Parts: sequence; structure tokens; C-alpha cells
Amino acid sequence: MAKPEVTPAGAAEPALQGRSPSAPSGGSERSEFGGQPFLKVNGIEVIYNHVILVLKGVSLQVPEGGVVALLGGNGAGKTTTLRAVSNLLAGERGEVTKGSIELRGECIKGLSTSEMVNRGVIQVMEGRHCFAHLSIEDNLMTGAYTRKDGKAAVAATLEKVYNFFPRLKERRSSQAAYTSGGEQQMCAIGRALMANPKMVLLDEPSMGLAPQIVEEVFEIVKNLNQREGVTFLLAEQNTNMALRYADHGYILESGRIVMEGAARDLRENEDVKEFYLGMGGASDGSPRKSFRDVKSYKRRKRWLS
Ligand code: ATP
Repeated sequence: MAKPEVTPAGAAEPALQGRSPSAPSGGSERSEFGGQPFLKVNGIEVIYNHVILVLKGVSLQVPEGGVVALLGGNGAGKTTTLRAVSNLLAGERGEVTKGSIELRGECIKGLSTSEMVNRGVIQVMEGRHCFAHLSIEDNLMTGAYTRKDGKAAVAATLEKVYNFFPRLKERRSSQAAYTSGGEQQMCAIGRALMANPKMVLLDEPSMGLAPQIVEEVFEIVKNLNQREGVTFLLAEQNTNMALRYADHGYILESGRIVMEGAARDLRENEDVKEFYLGMGGASDGSPRKSFRDVKSYKRRKRWLS
């Protein structure tokens, strides 16, 4: 039987691929996807308010043109990871106190958010932030604020955004406050696209949306990735949906990556099914446990079989 490629990054002993927690795959020099990764996060620690330790050595990498999912429950540290990458921690009184983050091999430490945008990295925040009093089109245009390539180029991008989101074209003159949750999420993603990003950090795109709309949003993400080559790092609690659309996934628990692997392998992994896909569970009816509660020997036995 083919062995899954998943790596129990939190396991006490070296795992399947020989990756130990101190040297997770995110720490290798070359991406397993081939070539230098677009984004490389190397063992970062993040502290809020000088005392609250939230990320404890998170490493991950995103290849250029890839879709990578960062999975985990409430408070696992997904948003914090995205904030660290887009240099938005300072506004939350947070800082990266250990480790480093590289964009195409270049350390991003000290870059402002606008410099990150100029390098093609844009975060779409959780909760589909739109300017409620502005029309959909004016919201989209705010995304082009940093562009210096002229009105014609911006108009062409707007048309492209409308091609990807025909619903937004229909609602272009509606005030954002009076559009649906799905339309606001599309508007938030469309606004990010107006800056011509190379990589979008997408925080909980499924939050609060009906399943059919979630599917629609993920289909658009897939199209953007395949047709425009936009790279995505998406933080999601909706593991099922994210693993259907991502190439690769990382699972965060309490600020640590506890597992990573190709999305297709994670979908088939028994522990992922049990803890994150709502399949299986404790036969005695006791509450669901986390990865970290499960004895590592049991996990290793399963991974090595
Ligand atoms: P959710 O899906 O609920 O947003 P998450 O995985 O994105 O969860 P984070 O928002 O990164 O998790 O939060 C991780 C931990 O950091 C939580 O315990 C949270 O309370 C804490 N935290 C987040 N932001 C701050 C902040 N600005 N100040 C202090 N603690 C924070």
C-alpha cells in the first residue's frame, strides 16, 4: 500500500519523510514542489502584547502558483500566521520574535504593508471587510490605490475582475452594505485582485456563507489560480472544502504545525478524517480529542503501516 506523504510535524521522533519537528519541510532549502518557494516561513514564534505566545515555531512554504491551505480550529493561529506574512502584526501589538519569513528568498523583516503590496502580497481579511457606504465598484477601485500604471490598465483589471465575478458586475452600483455575504466576500477578493497580486493570503473565505456560495467562492479561487497564476495561502476551518481545492495543507493546533502533506493524502488520512472532517470519532461517545491528545505511538503506527 502506498504510504501517505503526511508528516506529523509535532511527533516526538523523526517521521516518514525523515522530517523532525526541528526541521519541518518548510525549513528545507528547496521546495518539494520544485525550485525556490515563493513564500518560506522558517520556525516563527509570534508574541502578542509582549506576553502572549501564540505561534511556536511555525514553518511552511508556498510554491509559486500553488494553493496551500492552513487548517485548524478556532484560535489555532491561522490568522496570526497570515498577519506575520503580510507584516500586519504591529497593528495588533504582535511581533515575530523568532524565525524568519522569506519572499522569493528575500527576508521581509521590516517591510511595511505597502511594500508588501508592492511585492505582490495582499491579505484578504477574515470577515469580508468592505466599505459599507461605498458601491461595489468604488470598493473594487480602492484596491487599485497603489497602482501607478495608468487608468487604462486599472480599467482592464476591473473588467478582468468582473469576468471572474459576474455577480459583482451586476451589483456594481449597489452600496456594499446592501449586498449579500457572498457578494461581499467576492468584493473583498476582487478588491485584492485590483492590485495585481502575485499571492493572496485569504483568511476564512467560507466564514458565515451558505455551502453553495462557499463552493462558488472556491471555484473562483481555483480559476484565478489556474488562469491567472495567482498563488494562494488560505486559512480555513472548513477542512473539507479547503482540501478539495488546495494542492497542499498544513494543520495548526495551538500555534504548532501538527501535520502537513499533499491535500489528497490529508483527505485520506484517518486522523484528519476523525478530527477535521467529522468522520469517525471516539466509539465510547467521549468528546473529540485533538491531534496532540492522541498518543504519538498510535499516530506513528498508523503512518508507518
Ligand atoms: P479563528 O479562526 O478563530 O480566527 P485562528 O486560527 O485564526 O482562529 P488567531 O486569530 O491567529 O487564530 O488567534 C490565535 C490565538 O491568538 C488566540 O488564542 C487568540 O486569542 C490570540 N490572539 C489573536 N489576536 C490577538 C491579539 N491582537 N492580541 C492578543 N491575543 C490575540
